[in-house]
Amino acid sequence: MTLSVAVVGAGLAGLISARHLAAAGATVTVFEKSRGLGGRLATRRAEGDLGFDHGAQYVIARSDAFRAVLKELEQAGSVTAWQPRDLAPKAGAADDTWWVGTPGMTALFRPLAEGLDVRRATRVVSVTEGPEDIELGLEEGQSVGPFDRLVLAIPPRQAADLLAGRPETNLLSAVQIAPCWSVMLAFERPLEVAFDVWRSSEAGPLAWVARNASKPGRDPDVDTWVLHGAPDWSTAQLEREPSEVLLELMAAFADLADPQPLPPTRYAAAHRWRYARTVMPLGRLFLDAGRILVGGDWCLGARVEAAYDSGLAMAEAILEQAGLEARS
Ligand SMILES: Cc1cc2nc3c(=O)[nH]c(=O)nc-3n(C[C@H](O)[C@H](O)[C@H](O)COP(=O)(O)OP(=O)(O)OC[C@H]3O[C@@H](n4cnc5c(N)ncnc54)[C@H](O)[C@@H]3O)c2cc1C
Repeated sequence: MTLSVAVVGAGLAGLISARHLAAAGATVTVFEKSRGLGGRLATRRAEGDLGFDHGAQYVIARSDAFRAVLKELEQAGSVTAWQPRDLAPKAGAADDTWWVGTPGMTALFRPLAEGLDVRRATRVVSVTEGPEDIELGLEEGQSVGPFDRLVLAIPPRQAADLLAGRPETNLLSAVQIAPCWSVMLAFERPLEVAFDVWRSSEAGPLAWVARNASKPGRDPDVDTWVLHGAPDWSTAQLEREPSEVLLELMAAFADLADPQPLPPTRYAAAHRWRYARTVMPLGRLFLDAGRILVGGDWCLGARVEAAYDSGLAMAEAILEQAGLEARS
């Protein structure tokens, strides 16, 4: 009999799990609350021709396995190395290449989603585990299933809500994830500054500034920028209006560009990532709750590679439990 698996969350962790399980012969259904896929690997499109990577900025591979994935994507034209002019000394190992999806970060996961049964705009609101199988309740009221296994590739707080009352959820409450306010700007004319990237680990407001247009494959004729608020600053401003946050982060950016004034904006918007960067990880590849596995980047850290490792490990564990061979 075919193993049926539900995967909740179509970020990188959920998609890599789903892909791996499907390749081994499992029947996989992915549920994603948003209309778009990729979670925090995101590209905001605006006014027809504008694009902003307002979530993850670039990807680094530390393991051979993830490096091989990126190499494959590079050969397919979906990722390219990015070499921005950077005011800060590069942190980490000298050979850390900054990979970006082309033409947007979403290109990093698109091939993974091809051919998968993904139910978009479908929020899972309950999980019912019976003696033999699992059923899911959807926001619209209907229930789906039965499934033999469940992968929850969503933030720990949301997973804990779905698994309320189970002892494993105690471990989830120890995980901490900081929010991040992200600002997207398109200028009427180029900002004449000597950097494409600026970073700081000091107290806010800004932690990261990047000329989005300096990434390969973006339109070089429209000067687009992405600003990220520092974790502590974003936490303190969590419930503020986007319009107020926008003005404050733009003012901090103007200080940085001084004496050059910021050019007039053609587009300006702020987006709040409530769960952005892991501050305190779980410390293991995933949380094992029997037929239900819970994972995501927050298991190991704050990077896309952590999401990949967690997603793959969940799929491998399910295949091992079910006695199936991985074929990818
Ligand atoms: C501002 C910002 C900057 C970052 N910069 C970098 C960087 O430069 N380099 C780097 O490596 N990483 C960076 N990261 C982190 C990186 O984006 C994450 O590590 C990675 O994308 C996490 O993938 P994931 O699959 O674990 O989770 P997510 O991408 O969060 O995916 C979870 C998915 O689950 C869905 N979901 C949640 N609840 C439900 C539900 N009940 N029903 C259905 N669907 C649900 C969500 O909509 C989402 O699509 C950044 C993140 C942010 C926000």
